[in-house]
Amino acid sequence: MIPAGFEYAAPESLDEAISLLGQGGDDAKLLAGGHSLLPLMKLRFAAPGTLIDLRKVPGLSGIERANGGVRIGAMTRHAELQVSDLGLPATAAHQIADQQVRNRGTIGGSLAHGDPASDLPTVLLAMDGGVTARGANGERSIAAGELFQDYLTTSLGDDEVITDVRLPSMEGYGHAYLKFARRAEDWAMVGVAALVKAEGGTFSDVRIGLTHMGTTPLRATQVEQALVGQPVEAGRIRAAAEAAAEGTDPPGDLNATPDYKRHLARVMTRRAVAQAAGL
Ligand SMILES: Cc1cc2nc3c(=O)[nH]c(=O)nc-3n(C[C@H](O)[C@H](O)[C@H](O)COP(=O)(O)OP(=O)(O)OC[C@H]3O[C@@H](n4cnc5c(N)ncnc54)[C@H](O)[C@@H]3O)c2cc1C
Repeated sequence: MIPAGFEYAAPESLDEAISLLGQGGDDAKLLAGGHSLLPLMKLRFAAPGTLIDLRKVPGLSGIERANGGVRIGAMTRHAELQVSDLGLPATAAHQIADQQVRNRGTIGGSLAHGDPASDLPTVLLAMDGGVTARGANGERSIAAGELFQDYLTTSLGDDEVITDVRLPSMEGYGHAYLKFARRAEDWAMVGVAALVKAEGGTFSDVRIGLTHMGTTPLRATQVEQALVGQPVEAGRIRAAAEAAAEGTDPPGDLNATPDYKRHLARVMTRRAVAQAAGL
């Protein structure tokens, strides 16, 4: 439970953080809330030579609405998100672990870590959001669909820092985030994010994200396609939700077999869509 030795730096500007990251190469790691990285270091699954703490870098925290969308600074804590008026991100953040973890963990850290059992990557994917990443070669936007590449693997470069998260406003959408775990503060065995828009009693848009159903967060595209243009009815939702596990490859673990997770995905997708639709 004691990490290997490491150097520690607490830069006071983003440029300095990027420069330190470049100098450290593979051996340097950013430190945000530390609630994913430090456990890995204590178990010696990770042994970075240098930790670059983002706490003193100005301008990386806070939630702003701008140009019909939302900008969330990468160092914004889950605790701030959970009391925001952001709908799905707030509902999901409220279900992350316990208050102690939510007081430290950050949205940027959660997305950069790329754990398919985490809740906010699924939210980003379901909302078709993205992140802004800054590195030595400048700034770029990365859409959620491009960010998550594999288990604990993202498309961020070694010298890139996520500076903020961009989300559409999703005005007029109903939402739900359901998470199935043995204890309230556990990681999701399976989680389902649903966003639905209805016009005249018919689904005009449906977006469903799945947590822990593969090596990355996934979209239940077959369910989405089956529901758009259909009446908002419990029977239609039940029938469409049967396809929720199509194209997934859930990992088995101590809590659940892959088959059980597929079953959970179907049941929870039905419930999440119904709840988002106000049924
Ligand atoms: C007991 C426990 C239970 C938990 N349960 C849940 C849960 O139910 N659901 C859930 O979603 N999460 C859960 N978590 C994880 C928690 O949400 C973490 O805080 C989060 O995943 C990582 O955020 P962090 O700020 O702590 O990142 P850190 O641990 O500091 O960093 C994680 C990784 O991201 C990199 N990084 C951090 N910030 C940036 C940035 N701005 N740009 C680029 N790279 C960056 C780091 O270098 C590191 O590789 C749990 C954690 C614990 C300890």
